[in-house]
Amino acid sequence: MINQKRAVDTFLKLIQIDSESGNEKKMQEYVAAELKKLGCRVVVDNAGKHFNTNAKGNVMGFFPGTVKSAPFVLVAHLDTVQPGRGIRAVVKKDCIVSDGKTILGADDKAGVAIILEVLRSLKENKVPHPPVEVLFTLCEERGMHGSKNLDYKQLKGREGMILDNEGGDELLIQGPAVNDVVVDVIGISAHAGACPEKGISALEVAAYAISHMKLGRIDKETVANFGAVQGGQVPNAVMEKLTLIGEARSLKIEKLAKQTEHMRKAFELAIKKYTKKIDGKVCKPVVNFNATKRYHSVQISKSHPVVKALVAAAKRLKFPLYPRSSGGGCDANVLSGKGFTLPNLSVGVYGCHTVHEKLVLKEFYAALALTWAAVTSYKK
Ligand SMILES: [Zn+2]
Repeated sequence: MINQKRAVDTFLKLIQIDSESGNEKKMQEYVAAELKKLGCRVVVDNAGKHFNTNAKGNVMGFFPGTVKSAPFVLVAHLDTVQPGRGIRAVVKKDCIVSDGKTILGADDKAGVAIILEVLRSLKENKVPHPPVEVLFTLCEERGMHGSKNLDYKQLKGREGMILDNEGGDELLIQGPAVNDVVVDVIGISAHAGACPEKGISALEVAAYAISHMKLGRIDKETVANFGAVQGGQVPNAVMEKLTLIGEARSLKIEKLAKQTEHMRKAFELAIKKYTKKIDGKVCKPVVNFNATKRYHSVQISKSHPVVKALVAAAKRLKFPLYPRSSGGGCDANVLSGKGFTLPNLSVGVYGCHTVHEKLVLKEFYAALALTWAAVTSYKK
């Protein structure tokens, strides 16, 4: 029923349309036209206004069902990383690679191709199926800007799949929530030779805070790190200002909040420690602690019907498939924060974000078959 060769042809066509993040207009127009041809009602939102792209917005396709059910949602992203212009595919017996000068773009056009092939097969065959809602997002690679600015009210379905995972045998059902942590520490500058006692070193304040802080691996589900420091200019001045750039991640939102608060409190301790009298006046360092949510966590139970359907189909079709947790983030995290349940399936791509990117056909076909099985078995 599924046409593997046609899915590959679609993939090869898609990667010929350049769509580096910010330059997705042609790709957006192409997939919107394809969805229309397949019989979808198509909506392109205005997300593109909110970040740097030449595209109008995320593309949503609404494919009517033949059975009464909530819609099944299928998600992939339209953009690629660089270098992604003028991609030339080299098709081998068991895989597809680029000519080595660019990425291949299988991240995530393999996902886009799978979704288009599933709709084509649904259209051609008399197989009972729920309504399908397709979401193709912009600018995922630059920080999920498309999904963050999506016109959510368009979508009625809340369950489905995302097709944007590396490898060939994984179903991501858990992923961490992440906070960006940026801390400015402002002390008091003074001549380090003549009167260091008149200064407060931002560096010492930061060091005190860090040494009273748990970082690295906090527990099985939580990690924290400062990965960049900026500050200071000359050896003979007490350092006035310092910026620490870090993050905290956890699979549990409560644990993330707790760790972030712990990091903030360590700076409070340091402020107290370094508050002192200078020329009879009480002086204290200033700390601007900024924690902002980068993305939400993904928490899907192994017993969720969509996960169970995928695992059962994999077993039946004799494909290996393992529900796992990931350390990174993608559209699934953002959509999860909006109430969507979208396990993220491997589509057979390896070496993402490099010129060695490769699409393994056997695993691409497996993802196609599993997506077909999940869509056609869904009823809610
Ligand atoms: Zn991707």
